[in-house]
Amino acid sequence: KGKRAFIAGVADDNGYGWAIAKSLAAAGAEILVGTWVPALNIFESSLHRGKFDESRRLQDGSLMEITKVYPLDAVYDNPEDVPEDVKTNKRYAGASNWTVQEVAESVKKDFGTIDILVHSLANGPEVSKPLSETSRKGYLAALSASSYSYISLLKHFLPIMNQGGSAVSLTYIASERIIPGYGGGMSSAKAALESDTKVLAFEAGRKKRIRVNTISAGPLGSRAAKAIGFIDMMIDYSFTNAPLQKELCAEEVGNTAAFLASPLASAITGAVIYVDNGLNAMGVGV
Ligand code: NAD
Repeated sequence: KGKRAFIAGVADDNGYGWAIAKSLAAAGAEILVGTWVPALNIFESSLHRGKFDESRRLQDGSLMEITKVYPLDAVYDNPEDVPEDVKTNKRYAGASNWTVQEVAESVKKDFGTIDILVHSLANGPEVSKPLSETSRKGYLAALSASSYSYISLLKHFLPIMNQGGSAVSLTYIASERIIPGYGGGMSSAKAALESDTKVLAFEAGRKKRIRVNTISAGPLGSRAAKAIGFIDMMIDYSFTNAPLQKELCAEEVGNTAAFLASPLASAITGAVIYVDNGLNAMGVGV
């Protein structure tokens, strides 16, 4: 029987979430995605109008099928958490059941169980501010959207994950090395995500033999990365300085996620896996 994956954080065909969906689909998994509520309409209409058809194409020529798109805002765990101004915001009012708990309930109702959970989302409203100039509110918002969102997803999806399943998230080396420009507490958020990956691996492993890993990905010109503003420089830097002087393709990250979700990775859990052309191993730029 094929596996079923829920991928949180897909809103176009440029990011890592999309690439992971494709690699999992190519490996035979059924694909469900969670799309940020404000991006839902444009994503769904583009999907239905065929705007993504070229990038839906898999190696064997077939097109990736997304069985269902769920609206999701991973900053809210249940309806009681949603402030009035968000509830009535017109970008949210059109959708329903988009808190983490409700999405997990909907997936349970629609499909029963999943095997693979992917967290490919981050948000830091003050990312362009240096850490030392970040407000408390901005810092906590970065942690809420980028780190706690993973705990919340795992908490709510664990009960419907099959024994032996796999969860994976995306992190960035700014958690452990200084990357000027990755501010607003986003570096802290990634450090929390990596630490949490270990503790969650223990808890989910003991509970249901579920493996929990994170991929430390190199720079990609996604929508989120472009919003930070320094992505072209980081891509150039990586090309110049990494052991492998080649472009990093989103597909290479997707394939790693598919590997981690597969039985080939049956003893890998609590790990940070670098998919960055080896840049993390360099001590100085050359
Ligand atoms: P992306 O824009 O494709 O993905 C980010 C997604 O997060 C978007 O779809 C956005 O709609 C969604 N999102 C934001 N806030 C949300 C919320 N509250 N609830 C639900 N969804 C929300 O960009 P990406 O760069 O592919 O990012 C995916 C992951 O990869 C992130 O964790 C990011 O930090 C990580 N990453 C990216 C790079 C890079 O260079 N692009 C490098 C390393 C790690």
